[in-house]
Amino acid sequence: MNFLSEPIITQASVLLTDSRLVSQPEHSVFFAIKGEHHDGHAFVAELYNKGVREFVVEKKAMSEAFVAELSTLTDAKIYLVENAIRALQNLVAKHRQKFDIPVIGVTGSNGKTIVKEWLSVLLAKDYNLVKSPRSYNSQIGVPLSVWELNENHNLGIFEAGISKSGEMEFLEPVIRPTIGIFTNIGSAHDEGFRSRKQKATEKLRLFQRCQVLIYCKDYEDIDDEIRILLKAVNPKIKLIDWSRKAGSKTFVNVTKFATYCTLQILWNGQIHDFKIPLADDASIENATHCIFLMLHLEIPNGDIQSRLDWLKPVAMRLELKQGINDCYLIDDSYNNDYAGLAVALNFMIQQHTKRDKVLIISDVLQSGLEENELYESIAELVRGKKIDKVIGIGEVIYRNQKAFYTPNLEDKKTVFYQSTQEFLEKYPINQLQSSLILVKGARKFEFEKIINRLTLKVHGTVFEVNLDALTNNLNFYRNKIGLGTKIMVMVKAFAYGSGSAEVASLLEYHKVDYLGVAYTDEGVVLRQNGIKLPIMVLNPQPESFAKLVEYNLEPEIYSFKLFEQFLNFTNRFTNKIFKIHLKIDTGMHRLGFVEQDIISVIDLLNQNPTIQVASIFSHLVGADESEHNAFSKLQIEKFEQMSQQILAAIPRQKPLRHICNSAGIIRFPEAKFDMVRLGIGLYGVEVTGVEQNALQTVGTLKTVISQIKHLQAGTTVGYSRKGVLERESKIATIAIGYADGFDRGFSKGVGKVLVNGVACPVVGNVCMDMTMIDVTDVECEEGDEVIIFGKDLSITELAQTIDTIPYEILTGVSERVKRVFFKE
Ligand SMILES: *Cc1c(COP(=O)(O)O)cnc(C)c1O
Repeated sequence: MNFLSEPIITQASVLLTDSRLVSQPEHSVFFAIKGEHHDGHAFVAELYNKGVREFVVEKKAMSEAFVAELSTLTDAKIYLVENAIRALQNLVAKHRQKFDIPVIGVTGSNGKTIVKEWLSVLLAKDYNLVKSPRSYNSQIGVPLSVWELNENHNLGIFEAGISKSGEMEFLEPVIRPTIGIFTNIGSAHDEGFRSRKQKATEKLRLFQRCQVLIYCKDYEDIDDEIRILLKAVNPKIKLIDWSRKAGSKTFVNVTKFATYCTLQILWNGQIHDFKIPLADDASIENATHCIFLMLHLEIPNGDIQSRLDWLKPVAMRLELKQGINDCYLIDDSYNNDYAGLAVALNFMIQQHTKRDKVLIISDVLQSGLEENELYESIAELVRGKKIDKVIGIGEVIYRNQKAFYTPNLEDKKTVFYQSTQEFLEKYPINQLQSSLILVKGARKFEFEKIINRLTLKVHGTVFEVNLDALTNNLNFYRNKIGLGTKIMVMVKAFAYGSGSAEVASLLEYHKVDYLGVAYTDEGVVLRQNGIKLPIMVLNPQPESFAKLVEYNLEPEIYSFKLFEQFLNFTNRFTNKIFKIHLKIDTGMHRLGFVEQDIISVIDLLNQNPTIQVASIFSHLVGADESEHNAFSKLQIEKFEQMSQQILAAIPRQKPLRHICNSAGIIRFPEAKFDMVRLGIGLYGVEVTGVEQNALQTVGTLKTVISQIKHLQAGTTVGYSRKGVLERESKIATIAIGYADGFDRGFSKGVGKVLVNGVACPVVGNVCMDMTMIDVTDVECEEGDEVIIFGKDLSITELAQTIDTIPYEILTGVSERVKRVFFKE
C-alpha cells in the first residue's frame, strides 16, 4: 500500500467526518477522527464498502492490524497525517484562499449563532452568501462550513467558537475574516482559560487580519485587549466600538417597550433611529451588532429598518414536535440553504423511527450555483438520505421539479406548489399520517404557517415534558462528573413539577444510582409506581416511619431528636439493618448536625449496629452565585473534615459522601466526592448560567386562547379595572390563572406570553383560572396556542420578571395542569 502525505489533493465535494452521514460516497473524502466516544478509524473499511475511496488517517492509528486492513483497500487513496483535524483545516484554509470576497467572522461567548443567522436574512437581498449551518463553529464545524464557499458567492458569514486556549489559531486561516464581530464575553468555557482576559485575547486572534471589527466596548475585558493586543498586531483595523454609555462617540440609546424597542444610534456624528420587534437584552445586543454591520455596508436606513422588521428569535437547535395524525415535526422554518438542509436531513435520519420521512422544502437560497445544478444536487442529497416524500414550495423549486422525479421516489409522492398559500389551500393535509416531517424553508416563505397547521393543537392548559431533553441533560451532567462518581437525582416536589413517576422511571431506565424526595409520601408514590431504585427521604416525619420501612425508603437523619425517634421505632425489629443518611450542617443552618455533635453521633452509631450509614452529606447554600464561592469552598472544607471524622469511626460501613447540587457540579467539580445530587439542572435550568446552552428545555407550559375581543381605547379589562386600554386593542382571554401556577405577580404587563412567536403582555390582573393578554399586534385566532414558558421563553427569564427563582416557577405549576410526556 502506498500512503500519500499532505497536501491533500482531492476532487471530492463532500468532506465526511461522521461515518453515519455518508450519502454520496463516491464524492466523499473521509477524515478519520479520534473522538472521546468513538474512533473514525474503525469505520474506514465499512465506508470503503459503501463506495468511499479517499481517506485521511492518522499515523498514531497505524497498528499492524490497521495497516493490514488498509492494504486490502486496493483502489483507495489514503493520506497518512499527524492529525486529521489539522489536515481538514489545512485543506479548507487553502480552499478559502481562492476567494477574494468579504467574509464576516463572528465570535464571542453568546449570540454568535443568532447574529450569523440574522445577518444571513438581513443581507440576503444584497449578497449571494454562504454561512455556517446552525452552530457549526467548532474545530471541525468551521472547516466543513467554509468548504461550501464557491465561485458564485460574494459574501461569507462564519462563526467560530472555542472551548480552550490555542484553538483560534487554527480557525483563523480557515475563515480568514475581513470583517469581524465580537458579540460579547461571558463565562462559558471559563475552565479552558486562565482568565476572562486570556479568553478575550484568544478569541481576538480571529481578527488579526480583519479590516473592520464591530464590538460593544462596554465589555471592558474585550475593549482592553483590543486596544492593547489586537492593535499591536493589526494597527490598521477600523474599530466600530459601540457603547450604551452616554457620552460615547458611538452611542446606542435603547428604549424598551412591551414587545419591541427603539434604538437611537449616534454614529459618524449622525443620529439614526431604528425599531426592532424584540425587547430582551440579548436580542437587543445581537441586533445592534447587525445594525452596525449594515451601516458599515452603507445600506440605507429605510432599507435597514424594513429588514429589521423580520427579526424573530432563532431556534438554536432542531427539535421534534408532536404533529397531527401521529406525525412528528422538525421545525426548521427560518432559512434554507444547502448546507443547512444537509444538517437538517442528517438530524432527521438520526431519529430512529420507522415513520415515513417527508421533506417540505422551499426554494433554496444563497447557493451560488446555477438553478438547475442546485436542484440536481439537492435532489441527489435527498435521494441519498432516503426521503420518502418531497413537497416543494416556491417558484424556483417548482420550475425545477423534474430533478426530483426518479424511480426511487414515486412521482405521485412528490408534489410542488408555487407558494405557501397554494400549498395550504390545495394540499390534502390528512395525507400526512404517522410520518416524520422536516419543514425546511427560508424566512420569506413563512413556513411557520405550515408548522402551525401541522402542529398538534392542545386543548386547555398542559405542561409538556420532553423526555429526550431530560435524557440529554442527565447525560450532560454525567459527562461532567465522569464515571467514578454516582448520581442521585432529586425528584422531590413532583419532580420539580415535571411528574415524579414518569421522570423516575426514565431515570431508573438510565440507571442513576439514587433518587431523593422530600417526604415519605413522595417516596411511597414512586414505589407504588414500581420504582426500585434506592430512595432517600430528606424530611421523614416520625409519624411516617412505618411507611418508610414498609416501602424500603431511607431517611435523612439530621438531629439527635430524630435519630432517637428513629432508633425507638427500629428497636422493635430484630436483625434488620436500616440505612440512613447523615446530614451535616456546614453553613445552611437548616437541618443537620454541627461540628460539636459529631462525637455524639459517632457514639450513637457505635451503640446501634443495626443502623448503617449509607451516606454522609451536606448542602451548599450559594453554589449558583459566584459571589459565594469563598463560602462554598469553606463549606466543602468543613464537610471534608466532619465527614472524615465519621468515616474514620465507622470504617467498615463505607458511606458515600456528597455535597454538590446542580450548581455545585458545575462550579466545584473538585468537590464531587462519591456522589452528586442533581436537581434543577436535569429539568433544563442551569442556575449558574455557565452551561445553559448545553442543556435542553424540558418543560413547556402552554394554554390556548379562549376568546378574542376588540375593545375601544379607554375600556378597562379584568378585576378592579386594572387593565386600562390606552389604544384600541385586541384582547385575548387565555385559559390559565394563578390557580394553575401563573403567578398573580405577572399582572398588569409584568408577565408576557408567546402567541405565534410574539411576546404579548398581560393586561390587568391575572384571575384564578384565566388571564387577559394584549394581542393587538399579533395575527391570531381563538383556539391558538399560547406559550407560558418553554424553549423561546425561558423559566429563568420568567422568574426574573417577578423577582423569584426558576425553582418556584417550575414547582408552582399546579397538579391540576395535565402533564403530557413525549419522546420519539
Ligand atoms: C433540592 C435539593 C438538591 C438539588 O438542588 P438543585 O439546586 O435543584 O440542584 C440537592 N440537595 C438537597 C439536599 C436538596 O434539597
